[in-house]
Amino acid sequence: MSKYLLDEHSLDFVSKFNIKWVILMSYRPIISNVEEASNNEKDGLYEFIIYLADGTQCRTFYNRYPEWKMTNISRLLKTPCPICRKDFICKCMENFGGVLQQQIIDNEWLEKAIAK
Ligand SMILES: [Zn+2]
Repeated sequence: MSKYLLDEHSLDFVSKFNIKWVILMSYRPIISNVEEASNNEKDGLYEFIIYLADGTQCRTFYNRYPEWKMTNISRLLKTPCPICRKDFICKCMENFGGVLQQQIIDNEWLEKAIAK
């Protein structure tokens, strides 16, 4: 009986893991806007809010020197996570730093945000 429960629990864990993995692999964040939230120009440190097309908002920190580099990204807790659906802190968006960074470069989002 205990073995059966263990197996059932393991299966449950595997299926949950797979579902999360599939969502993670298929999620494609699209940036709809970027706003500067704060900066320390002297040290080249900037905080931006990234608005995604699905309503998710992320806070990112950048170091400008020697070149723009994303040092941290986290989801703002205004809407549930689009990947794991948690409405509290999770680390899912960390997996998309590279994808978002590419869009930021391609669309010159940081230049636009700073110019405002
Ligand atoms: Zn999440």
